[in-house]
Amino acid sequence: CKSNGKGEIALYDKAFDEGRLHRMLIEEQIARGLVNDEFDVFYQPVVDGATGSIVAAEALIRWPRRREGQLDPDQFIAIAEATGQIHPLGALVLRRACQDFVQLPGLRLSVNVSPAQFRDPGFERQVAEILQETGFPPDRLQLEITEGYLLAQPERAIRMIGEFKAMGISVALDDFGTGFTSIHYLQSYGFSHIKIDKSLVSGLQPGNKASLLVAGAILLAKGLDMEVIAEGVECVEQADLLRKPGCDYLQGYMFGRPLSFGDFSQSMPARPAP
Ligand code: C2E
Ligand code: CA
Ligand code: CA
Ligand code: CA
Repeated sequence: CKSNGKGEIALYDKAFDEGRLHRMLIEEQIARGLVNDEFDVFYQPVVDGATGSIVAAEALIRWPRRREGQLDPDQFIAIAEATGQIHPLGALVLRRACQDFVQLPGLRLSVNVSPAQFRDPGFERQVAEILQETGFPPDRLQLEITEGYLLAQPERAIRMIGEFKAMGISVALDDFGTGFTSIHYLQSYGFSHIKIDKSLVSGLQPGNKASLLVAGAILLAKGLDMEVIAEGVECVEQADLLRKPGCDYLQGYMFGRPLSFGDFSQSMPARPAP
């Protein structure tokens, strides 16, 4: 499978070595960007593994930065988490995504949430307010969280996931396969979905260790009543190795890149009039 993505390159930004100064500069630019409304939200389709039809989309923040050029979210999100700017940024993404997707009935929407947001005592209320304000139905919303925070505060995480569930919102474990999630944790947290990280997907070869691991994880998740999404699917060989053990949903460049809402909704097959 030939990689045509940007995944391998540009994950490492040399400027990071310049440390503090760089972070302060970005912090200032984020503050300005928030004031000037410079952030965009893009959407990447998630398809049903069995039928190939689009059932959902993941919202991904974009920052074109007119003067200095686009900066990857992996880079500025970490800084925004350290400075607390993740709170206005996260709210911006959730609000924009709900405003956009309320116009596409039938599609589920998945939004990334930083541990700092999930930890914030006001977060749940903020989510409820944004849903109310936008009219977006909670049962079409999914929040994606990574495991870092879960291990630090398991009881609180379990309670939060339960409360979101009670509101109709599902919570997915993101970046599965990159950390230390134990089977025990998976079972007790109450996730509705796990998302297999693209680093595992990109290593899939028929019969190799990665494919055994992924197949095992899929079986396990199903046994625990969770659905499985694989991200970073770039070619048909990977899709087949994921479909065979029963991966429920697939996401990756093979099915579509992240697009602006305008482009995303235009790329959707026409729906029959209600
Ligand atoms: P993630 O949540 O694991 O998102 C998947 C990343 O893989 C996205 O990168 C997506 O564009 C990219 N991707 C999708 N399909 C493929 C593929 O087939 N091949 C390859 N090589 N890559 C693929 P992106 O958009 O640069 O985002 C990077 C990370 O930044 C995300 O990783 C997430 O952790 C974070 N992020 C993005 N938007 C938000 C946001 O609104 N809030 C928060 N808290 N984090 C965000
Ligand atoms: Ca994600
Ligand atoms: Ca990932
Ligand atoms: Ca990530």
